Amino acid sequence: MTVSSNGAARLRIDLEALVANYRKLRSTANPAQVAAVVKADGYGLGAVPVAQALAKEGCRQFFTALLCEAMTLRPSLPQDTDVFVLNGLQPGTEEECAAIGAVPVLNSLDQIERWASIARRLGTTLRAALQVDTGMSRLGLAPDEQAALKGAPHLLDGVEPILLMSHLACADEPDHAANRVQHDRFVQVARGFPGLPLALDNSGGIFLARSHFDVVRAGIALYGGAATGGENSMAPVISIKAPIVQVRTVPAGTGMGYGMSFRTKRETRIATIPVGYADGFPRTLSNRGSAFIAGVRAPIVGRVSMDSITLDVSNVPMRHLAVGAPVELIGEHQSLDDVARDAATISYEILVGLGRRYAREYGALQTSRTDAVDLRSAAA
Ligand SMILES: *Cc1c(COP(=O)(O)O)cnc(C)c1O
Repeated sequence: MTVSSNGAARLRIDLEALVANYRKLRSTANPAQVAAVVKADGYGLGAVPVAQALAKEGCRQFFTALLCEAMTLRPSLPQDTDVFVLNGLQPGTEEECAAIGAVPVLNSLDQIERWASIARRLGTTLRAALQVDTGMSRLGLAPDEQAALKGAPHLLDGVEPILLMSHLACADEPDHAANRVQHDRFVQVARGFPGLPLALDNSGGIFLARSHFDVVRAGIALYGGAATGGENSMAPVISIKAPIVQVRTVPAGTGMGYGMSFRTKRETRIATIPVGYADGFPRTLSNRGSAFIAGVRAPIVGRVSMDSITLDVSNVPMRHLAVGAPVELIGEHQSLDDVARDAATISYEILVGLGRRYAREYGALQTSRTDAVDLRSAAA
């Protein structure tokens, strides 16, 4: 396999690791069902291949954010799965949503009314999830709307609720007091909907030591990211390797890159790799992040530019520095979360920002040793 038949860095997506993470979450959340959140094109990794791999493993519920995402996904999944639309029902999209059989997450009385009215017009019953706001103040029926719905259950005529859900604001901080407050509010609201399956937890919520209700909505943990500040027990799903495009040795006092924001203190060997902020390695990594070559750390020096990054490779033995030799950006020595931390952001943002230029490869992760041989032979 080649890093670059076309010059691009390689993004490998390990669907076996994804499935292993799914199994792990299933046993942690047991007996709750684990639904997969595949919004933003499966956190940037490809909603269709990700969802298909999970459907094969038994996952039956998938969450997108937008109807257009559900439209892409719905035809690629088995009939006995549900594709939910988290952002709800935008005015004017009701018929399309019903036509493709997507399940909207109804977030307001207005959305409930429009879904019920299209159901009556079609002479059918339409399924939906109901979302209640329990403290995040982003989406979902506000407390006054929850009360209004309780007092007027006919508002749901024509609508078959199949899930009652809410979303946690602080699940990545297990000790945050809001987790308990939102949990208790959710339990209280749920009393008004007896028999309806309940879903509160995202990835962080799955690791809170308490009931997980009937369904959990797993996102980042499936993709190998840390769901909480603690130790991350999920398997890494992505690895990124870039080929060296140029190596040079510069004297002390040399300015590096745009703005010459870095100046060498001594004679320095520099390697340039063909990955930049267009590929989701943010400019905040300028003079902060690192890459690894043959397991040796190579700090980023100078600014990250659109298409390239310069590395101080003075500590890397010359034999690993041939043009085309592999540079690990995410992998065995540097995790997705390491990169996110260095970039002062979160793994979610790195994942969804990876961009379209990579040579993408779906499969099992191989050892870096095998990669190195592959990449060198590709360059030769
Ligand atoms: C994105 C999202 C999730 C998944 O969150 P993770 O932290 O990635 O597990 C779950 N529920 C809702 C409502 C979401 O918007």
